[in-house]
Order: sequence, then structure tokens, then C-alpha cells
Amino acid sequence: MSRILDLVSAELRHLEDSHTYKYEVSLQSAQDSLVRVNGKKVVMLASNNYVGLSNHPVVRKAAIAGIKKYGYGVASVRFICGTQDIHLALEKKISKFLGTEDTILFSSCWAANEAFFASLTNEKMGCETYKDVIYSDRFNHASIIDGQRLCKTETTDRKIYKHADVDDLVRQLEEDKAVDYRLRIIATDGVFSMEGDLAPLDRLVEIAKHYDAILFVDDSHAVGVCGKAGRGTPEAKGVHGKIDVLTGTLGKAIGGAAGGYISGKKEVIAFMRQKARTYIFSNSLPPSIVFGASAAFDLLTKDKTIVKRLQRNTAYFRKKIVELGFTIVEGEHPIVPIMLGEASVAQEMSSALLKEGVYIRGLWYPVVPKGEARLRAQVSAALRRKDIDRALKAFRKVGKKMNVLK
Ligand SMILES: *Cc1c(COP(=O)(O)O)cnc(C)c1O
Repeated sequence: MSRILDLVSAELRHLEDSHTYKYEVSLQSAQDSLVRVNGKKVVMLASNNYVGLSNHPVVRKAAIAGIKKYGYGVASVRFICGTQDIHLALEKKISKFLGTEDTILFSSCWAANEAFFASLTNEKMGCETYKDVIYSDRFNHASIIDGQRLCKTETTDRKIYKHADVDDLVRQLEEDKAVDYRLRIIATDGVFSMEGDLAPLDRLVEIAKHYDAILFVDDSHAVGVCGKAGRGTPEAKGVHGKIDVLTGTLGKAIGGAAGGYISGKKEVIAFMRQKARTYIFSNSLPPSIVFGASAAFDLLTKDKTIVKRLQRNTAYFRKKIVELGFTIVEGEHPIVPIMLGEASVAQEMSSALLKEGVYIRGLWYPVVPKGEARLRAQVSAALRRKDIDRALKAFRKVGKKMNVLK
């Protein structure tokens, strides 16, 4: 035991020195536009609560109703006795929202992504000898990468293409044209969480079709957020209903509690129910979450102003923060990276902003490349104009003081 303590203590010291140490600040309140930290109410600019449903009265009420009607826990995996009719109803609802044939729920999107790659590529499906290939965007989420790590190297080639670079992807697909792959899979985030940029899904749909590949899109940061009706990156890119396989989380815009899914063709989903290990051997989602997520989808479907409000807030924040003299990564997503360069600057600035009443986090190496440290602002529909203005005022004060304004 003392050996372990020595090792982890040394590593922790090293992490602290290199600014990668991620300290945690605890909230003394619900996740909302304003949160309580150190006894003070501050404006939240760091959550994935994009459309303000994490503490929405309708979602709260639904979650409580879920417990009242279906209990606290299911105490089973889906296929033993952990499927309640509400699980099936939520799967239907997600399919309808995304324009897909069927959906399978998981305890998280992490679990969904792990399941997807391993289940498909590690199964012989009648092929005694075979090889599959996965082309993965360089900036893909850790869960997509780990999902691919579960694929056996003997039967799966894993390749990486430059971030959002369709030419690099096409070059590799061309190179491999003569190889007799069983499955070709193109894997991408819908929205990339460090940059807030959208994958070129319109192009990727064409490319996948041309090379007879499967297009896999993890749309965790986009469902409830992107597109006119919040149906995600495919809607924003004009290819709603045309993605082969979608995965996503219920832990961000969709109420922010937990849960994930794979959605797509009914045969693929039926296959996953038989083969996905994180589905078969892991607990069923609790009724409070199923009800809460279901209410979140209903709200998004019925009230189009929710997504509009998010998009209006985002445009306002992006415009004003640039006017103040900050450098941002241009775009349309509520993730707004405010570029600062040095890790120490980002760290100092986020602490100063917290003192001035704004909760925002810095990101630095190794999460982003060296010299590209930043604050990542995340706008929410829950923010009122006066909350955003209060945050901007703090940005101006701290930015001036630290001499980082243009
Ligand atoms: C947040 C996120 C996940 C993880 O979702 P969980 O449901 O919390 O496991 C997976 N993929 C992407 C792209 C994400 O942004």
C-alpha cells in the first residue's frame, strides 16, 4: 500500500506543478443560471445545462412522479427484469426526436460508445476471417477513443484523420479502397467540446455513402442545442435523419442527470440489445431519470422558444465578449472558447472571475494543445440578459486588470 501512496502522491505533485491539476469547486445549490459557491451567488458559465432543464420545474416534477409511480431503483439489468414500459417509451421518444428507427438506452453515453465499437467489430457474424476499419477524428471524445480501444487489434484497424479534415479522410479511404474490409466505420463527434465547432456532417454523409462506410456520430453536445428545433448537428447541417448511427447523452442538455443511447437502424439496435456488454451487464436507468429525460424531450418538442433563447443568448455573448477585446474561436455553438495562451493566465483568470461572481473553467495542456490555454464559456438558455451582462462586466474588469484585452 505505501508503494501506491508514494506513486500517486508524486504524480499529484507533478500534476499540480504542470497546471493540469483539476481542483474541484463544490456548489451549494442546484445547477442553474446562478449557483451558490462559497456562500455567494455566481453566474454559471461552465455547465452543460444548455437549455436550462437541469433544475426546470417541469423536469423536477416529472422526476418526482417517476419515483412515485415506478419507485427509486429497478434493481436489475434490462433483460432480466429491469425493463419497465417507461424505458421502451423513452426509447421511442428519442427515435422520434432524432428521426431514427430505434434507440437503445444505456447508463451513460460513455457506456453507449464503449458498447457500439466493441460489439460490432469483435463479433464474427458468420465471418471466420475478417478485418474492420475505423476512421476517427483526431479530436474525438475520450469515450469514442476508449470504445475503439476495446476492439481487438487482430480484427480492427484504427486510423485517425485530421480534425474535421474531409480531404484527409478521403485520402485514407482511397488508400484503403483495395483492402477487403468487412466494415468501414467513420466516427466523429457532432460538436467538439474544446472548440465548440460542428463536424462537417453534410460532407461526411456523402463520403460515407460513396465509400460504403457507416457514419457514427456522437451528438452529446448538440441534442437540445443545435439546429432550429434542437435536434442536433445533423439538423444544423441539413442531414437530419441521414446519419447511420447516433449516440448521445441525457447528461447534458436533456436534463443533465445521466443516461445515454445509441440510435439508428432497427437491426443495429436489435443487435446491440443482444451484444452490448455495458447494456446486458449493467443496471437499467432509474425511473426518476427516465421520467425527467422524457419531460425534457417533451419540453423541447412543444416549446420552440427554449432553443431559440439559447441561440439568442449565445449570439449576444459571442458578440459582446469580442467587443470587450477578447479573442474567441468563432462559431455558433454555446461553447465559446476564450483564448488566453498560457495555462497560468487561464488559471489565474478563472479564479479572479469567480471572485467577481462568474463561474468559468480554464482548460490547458494536455486537454488542449500547449500554448492554447483558454477559458471555456458555456452559454445557457437559463441565463437572463442581466446575468450575461453581469458576467460581461466581470470579464471586462478582470481582463483589463490582467492586460489580456486587445
Ligand atoms: C459528455 C460526453 C460524453 C459522455 O457522456 P456521459 O453520458 O456523461 O457518459 C460522451 N461523448 C461526448 C461527445 C460527450 O461530450
